[in-house]
Amino acid sequence: MNSCRGARTAVIVGAGVAGLTAATALAGAGWQVEIAEVNPSRVTSGWGLCLTGPALRALAELGLAEGCLAEGYGMSVITHVDVDGEPAGRARLPGLLGARRPAMAGIARPVLHRILYAEAEQRGVAVRQGLTVTAVDEAGDLVRVQLSDGTVRQVALLVGADGIRSSVRGLLGLETSLDYHGQMVWRALVPRPQWATGIHHFAGKADSAGLVPLSAGQAYVFVTENGVERSVLPETELVPRLQQILEGFPGRVEEIRSLVSGSTSVVRRPVLTAFLEGAWHRGNGVVIGDAAHAPAPQMASGAALAIEDGLVLAEELGRHTAVASGVEAFVKRRRQRCRTVVETSVAIAGLERAQRHHAAYPLTDAGHRLMAEPA
Ligand SMILES: Cc1cc2nc3c(=O)[nH]c(=O)nc-3n(C[C@H](O)[C@H](O)[C@H](O)COP(=O)(O)OP(=O)(O)OC[C@H]3O[C@@H](n4cnc5c(N)ncnc54)[C@H](O)[C@@H]3O)c2cc1C
Repeated sequence: MNSCRGARTAVIVGAGVAGLTAATALAGAGWQVEIAEVNPSRVTSGWGLCLTGPALRALAELGLAEGCLAEGYGMSVITHVDVDGEPAGRARLPGLLGARRPAMAGIARPVLHRILYAEAEQRGVAVRQGLTVTAVDEAGDLVRVQLSDGTVRQVALLVGADGIRSSVRGLLGLETSLDYHGQMVWRALVPRPQWATGIHHFAGKADSAGLVPLSAGQAYVFVTENGVERSVLPETELVPRLQQILEGFPGRVEEIRSLVSGSTSVVRRPVLTAFLEGAWHRGNGVVIGDAAHAPAPQMASGAALAIEDGLVLAEELGRHTAVASGVEAFVKRRRQRCRTVVETSVAIAGLERAQRHHAAYPLTDAGHRLMAEPA
């Protein structure tokens, strides 16, 4: 593809969930789109994520939900288990794709990314790996974007989809804090136990744990470590430390613990959130996805918000002649929904830290009900 220049052209920074789906939505609406992705390779970290109903509904608009369900693991039930290993509740989530389709899907991140890349490129999006943006200036009705290879684009739209540590945010003069919530989250890829046909959530005395199926053969374990300082552990300490945390749980977690011992993919990350209280845009430049609003992972809704952003952005740009007006309408439509999800996720994190798991379940349900409303 030739480099973008002029009307209905966009540079998107970041080929994550937000960037790839926004690119697909914009290309579908007739935009010429180029993505600059800082990572030189397409290899994505190997753990998985849960695509909730709203994420699947948004993917369906791009024609991608069935592909994700076929390659992931469709499910509809979340089982909560209390600190004594006793069932504490079983929630059957409503299917937003129709009563006969699963309400959500677990999927390995590399699989999701392969699906998203394929659709974006099929629609003519050019993805340039190993590239970032170094400067942004307004140029009349266009945005002048300087890339790290020294080339320049003059485009109608710049989208910062470069994640929670967004550079575009800073280049547009938009600032926010990253808030740490005293929790470290773990993910470990394991073989799927036969009984894991939905999400399981286990409350522990200090921490919480769970299991999400990703395919017929694979699942991921998640653990939230409460009230700890932010720290980095050496790679060799990850599996033993995770096993040690899981020792404190009764029941089925014992089986999960033994599966963790053979896992070759374990990650530990701080729970960070961000929300841009002020503007999300300057002129024809805007930030979307985690760059604008990053919830804590407890609500499993970051990807849903990111995909919805791209759809709403393309829709509003289609309704407005001036790009800046379309961008403004996008922010107006998205701000409150995204704020509520981030705030709810922070509240859930707080209740988990206080060992008030039972108080957290209704909040999670309320958050999912809100997300089930149209974007
Ligand atoms: C442990 C954990 C578990 C989670 N589980 C779930 C879940 O189950 N369900 C769910 O919906 N959400 C989940 N989330 C949240 C979800 O992962 C994010 O909300 C989602 O990935 C946001 O997508 P994004 O595209 O905005 O950002 P990202 O996925 O972070 O993508 C940003 C992209 O931009 C690139 N980039 C960064 N800086 C630059 C730069 N300067 N120039 C060019 N490119 C750049 C990055 O390499 C990356 O490709 C989880 C988050 C965490 C941390």
